[in-house]
Amino acid sequence: MVADSDSTVESVPVDAGRFVPPALVQSTPVQGTVTDEQTVDIEWDANFTLSLSDPLEPGTEVKVVRSGEGFAAKPIDQIEAAQEAKAWERERQKIHGQARKRRQRVAFWEQYDIPIAFTTAKNNRISELRRGSTGTGQTENTVTHLLVLEDVDEGRLKRAESRFLCKGEGNRSDQRMGLADQTAATDPKETSVIDCQTCLERMKRWRVDDRRK
Ligand SMILES: [Zn+2]
Repeated sequence: MVADSDSTVESVPVDAGRFVPPALVQSTPVQGTVTDEQTVDIEWDANFTLSLSDPLEPGTEVKVVRSGEGFAAKPIDQIEAAQEAKAWERERQKIHGQARKRRQRVAFWEQYDIPIAFTTAKNNRISELRRGSTGTGQTENTVTHLLVLEDVDEGRLKRAESRFLCKGEGNRSDQRMGLADQTAATDPKETSVIDCQTCLERMKRWRVDDRRK
């Protein structure tokens, strides 16, 4: 056996004879079956013999591929199993990544005890898209804000409902545009964290004190 880039798939060198048939070079990979004589019987009528250098179970379906200067046979069931394993691994990593992001969201929101109804929203106003930057190095329309869903009146912090926590002034209908991106049907804590620096600054008043944890 020869170590393959995919170590889970056996790769058995195949001897195609003294003169490598050009037709084989051109048509690989080609499918075939291992015979009792330890050759590979390929799909088409070949005028050459493909001899395996290491034994494989007769009847094994193989794929004959180019391998360095020569050819190698790889059992198809192993190729498929390796592909399936890779797909599973990708799926596992995806789920793992989702779980990690969820833990990050939970950890973020656990820092706060917010006494008003709210949701999260991005500002998708056209003017913001054109202007692009907020000067904080981030593009305004990619930042998630806290959108208050009821009036806030806490000392110096006064916000009417349906406004971003970071903006006291401005056209209310403009800010309502942000609602287009809000995650209305679900718990905002399930979908995003706040990354608008000004909103985060204003949210400090609602941070859960370490002693209360
Ligand atoms: Zn904000």
